[in-house]
Amino acid sequence: MGARQIDAIATRFPLTPEQVETVRLLSQVLPFRVNEYTLSELIDWDSVPDDPMFRMVFPQRGMLSPQDEHLLTAATVTGDRQAVTAAVKEIRGRLNPHPSGQQELNVPRIDGSPAPGLQHKYRETVLYFPSQGQSCHSYCTYCFRWAQFVGDADLRFATPRPDVLVRYLREHPEVHDVLITGGDPMIMGTDRLLEHLQPLLEVPTVRTVRIGTKSIAYWPQRFVTDTDADDLLRLFEQVTKAGRLLAVMAHFTHPRELNTTLAVQALARIRATGAVVYCQAPLIGRINDDARTWSSLWRAEIAAGAVPYYMFVERNTGPYEYFKVPLAKAADVFRAAYQTLPGLARTVRGPVMSATPGKVVVDGVEETAHGRFFQLRMLQARNPALVGRPFRARFSATAAWLDDLEPAADTPADIAAAVWGGSPGKP
Ligand code: SF4
Repeated sequence: MGARQIDAIATRFPLTPEQVETVRLLSQVLPFRVNEYTLSELIDWDSVPDDPMFRMVFPQRGMLSPQDEHLLTAATVTGDRQAVTAAVKEIRGRLNPHPSGQQELNVPRIDGSPAPGLQHKYRETVLYFPSQGQSCHSYCTYCFRWAQFVGDADLRFATPRPDVLVRYLREHPEVHDVLITGGDPMIMGTDRLLEHLQPLLEVPTVRTVRIGTKSIAYWPQRFVTDTDADDLLRLFEQVTKAGRLLAVMAHFTHPRELNTTLAVQALARIRATGAVVYCQAPLIGRINDDARTWSSLWRAEIAAGAVPYYMFVERNTGPYEYFKVPLAKAADVFRAAYQTLPGLARTVRGPVMSATPGKVVVDGVEETAHGRFFQLRMLQARNPALVGRPFRARFSATAAWLDDLEPAADTPADIAAAVWGGSPGKP
């Protein structure tokens, strides 16, 4: 259901007329979609509008800047479709649709031309965007891939068939790991998914198939009661029986998503195929920005046999100003939650910025005679020589992303060049 169904949703759930109008207005810019399961099982309607799951799918006032909201309102009241389209395009352009250089820096080439629907950022991993998997069961308001959903071909990357991917993988035997992503690839029926997945099994250098999905949170029926749920699990078994690691990269933002019988059943059924479930999510202001929520989330994951993997820092895109969390707070939330975990759940890494040069973790804050510093480390890097190397940046209470930080004077030159594009002191 989308904005066109908002009146019907309001007849069944307690939305105020103002909330209905907000959805109608803002969804012209920010993609809005919600399914029945999210409405009836995940949102706590007694806590609306502060409910985290409500904020996670319903656009809210404040997600656009006052100027952009004014521009959109002014265009909308004219009733002139062209004026609205122009305003929407202008506002979306300001929302940084492709953060971290995704569209320019990560697109691989075949025969000198860009390979559509692929991204190759780290040596061993290729991301694959099947066109039929470029939507989701519900849309997260904080989505960093929102540009995939807005129907603008210039903002979207996707490919209908895996031929180019397979060719690329054969030409690049150093790639061992393919991440099928979206949107949400689990939006596809099993027959369609099989068309994308099976050819990968014929490439002997592919050792790991990852599937990035939020379906266990938003539509666990996909693995339990959908008519092709059993076929899907047989397909997963086909991958694991072929000797490949099948890693389901599950996106869980809030412990409530794991608090339904269906979600727990889905996880058990996926694990029974031999797949391993790794869990990841961003730290989002007003939704999950406290240690208790993360501690409950990671504990629920480990109790369901899944592996806590990443706490990400929200990227600079979409309603970033509304959701961003300063790195100092993110490090505090991570540490306080991590301290409560049993050893087996301490597989989780964070807070991590998936930035242009690579994945940078904030390990903590250091007090020295020369001031306070963030302790940072590259967990992944375009340049493999940078992986695992610690470095520091000057502490800032408000910095929320790598670009907001200043390197410490002792930053190694190669790291300063990769992260800040210059030598220490010259960011
Ligand atoms: S599930 Fe992922 S891709 Fe889909 S809307 Fe949420 S963040 Fe975006």
